[in-house]
Amino acid sequence: MPIDVVCWMHVDITAEHTSEYMDQKYYFCSSKCKKEFDDAPDRYLGVKSPMKMPE
Ligand SMILES: [Zn+2]
Repeated sequence: MPIDVVCWMHVDITAEHTSEYMDQKYYFCSSKCKKEFDDAPDRYLGVKSPMKMPE
């Protein structure tokens, strides 16, 4: 099951809010999360957890 990389919710594979970046498809729980990702994809990629502080 795909994960919304913005809010880290599990998203259904049939989700209507999707975006493609670097040949990879991303799924979002809402248009809000999709827009957040589209505005700054790099912010959400390569990060293990959005809430985790750097150690
Ligand atoms: Zn979301």
